[in-house]
Amino acid sequence: MHKLMKHIFNSNFQYSPLGVGGMNYYSLNHNSPKVNFAEAALRGQAPDKGLYFPENIPQLPNGFIENINQYSKEEIGFTVMKPYVGETIADADLQKIINETINFDFPLVKITENIFSLELFHGPTLAFKDVGARFMSRCLGYFNRNAYHKTTVLVATSGDTGGAVANGFLGVEGVDVIILYPSGKVSKIQELQLTALGQNITALEVNGTFDDCQAIVKQAFMDDDLHQKINLTSANSINIARWLPQQLYYFFAYQQWQENEAPVISVPSGNFGNICAGILAHVSGLPVKHFIAACNANDIIPKYLQTEQYIPKPAIATISNAMDVGNPSNFIRIMELFHQQFGSLKNKMSSMSVDDVTTAETIQKVYQQYHYTLDPHGAVAYHALSEYLKNNNDKGFILETAHPVKFPDTVEDATGQSIDFPQQVQHLLSAEKKSIRMNASFNDFKEWLLTK
Ligand SMILES: *Cc1c(COP(=O)(O)O)cnc(C)c1O
Repeated sequence: MHKLMKHIFNSNFQYSPLGVGGMNYYSLNHNSPKVNFAEAALRGQAPDKGLYFPENIPQLPNGFIENINQYSKEEIGFTVMKPYVGETIADADLQKIINETINFDFPLVKITENIFSLELFHGPTLAFKDVGARFMSRCLGYFNRNAYHKTTVLVATSGDTGGAVANGFLGVEGVDVIILYPSGKVSKIQELQLTALGQNITALEVNGTFDDCQAIVKQAFMDDDLHQKINLTSANSINIARWLPQQLYYFFAYQQWQENEAPVISVPSGNFGNICAGILAHVSGLPVKHFIAACNANDIIPKYLQTEQYIPKPAIATISNAMDVGNPSNFIRIMELFHQQFGSLKNKMSSMSVDDVTTAETIQKVYQQYHYTLDPHGAVAYHALSEYLKNNNDKGFILETAHPVKFPDTVEDATGQSIDFPQQVQHLLSAEKKSIRMNASFNDFKEWLLTK
């Protein structure tokens, strides 16, 4: 057994007596059986429609934080993830999955004396979702390795998520991916990221909106006929296999953190999966002074922290569109981490809503003063962090969740500079788009799927 793991099993980690696979997960609706990691990842959502949540939060081995510089990214990945995965994946296979998941850089870059940027956009689709998508796809491939029937993953995308999911599943055996996107409503790079992959990835270009795409996917999951004939699953962001590996960013940042005091961390938030993973890392023992959930005009959580009233609303469109969420699905997991106590949550996490004008001004100001180019999501986080730091002497970092080249109109308008294509997407410039055009009709979709 891995040296560090021995430590975990011998000391803090509670081995659950129920579990065949170690850690068990319960539904936050409390009306479904507990399951192990494999079953939770394969199901996505519990039968009672609740989100799965780990039965106990593993504590980091003694000395792990003090000596974090001695460990490689791969060792950190294994140590953090192993207790959650339990025995459902053999150690050597888990290590391989982790190595493939994180095989790019996560640099912490200094912007000002007290603000740093953790760049999470160096993965294959230039999105922080690459980590979650790569980990989840490989886990599903592993769990399906002996299955007789192929699994078909259905995803609807408004742009960013789809690319990370599709790329994450590319070439994973036993899994086909079908991705629905609204024709003419995603940027050129985003479209090529969905349509140029080939292999086990099929892109359906729907004559309609993102909501039409999502409606087709939802109906497909409820269709008995389809369920009997095809092994359908979702790559939804509430899946624990996408949620849990996001903790690793926070450890990689801490490894590079040179300041004396623990950091304040500002996370651009939409569905609140990323920040929830950060809080989970903190509850496991990672030092963090304070969390800031930075939101755009979709201000459900900032309002909640002011008033203790949680009022979901239809999403409002903004220039940081990956955060246009009117009912953040992971927030309930954050509440669970704070034992549903509003007061403890408020002590550890602040939240701020930043409008589009301020976001664009922030991109411009940070470029002019510090020659650093933020994307709109990172800019929301930057503004919220700099406002927070006005009142104290702390230092902190933002999570820069997407490469600015993915939002060229907004960013080039603000900086007056054109953005170079990073090497990961150079090949897309000459790639060929291959999509299947389809009307926004569930019946057309079903007929296509059954005869494909
Ligand atoms: C998905 C996404 C977010 C929001 O992340 P959540 O985990 O949903 O809060 C922020 N920025 C970018 C670029 C994203 O793609």
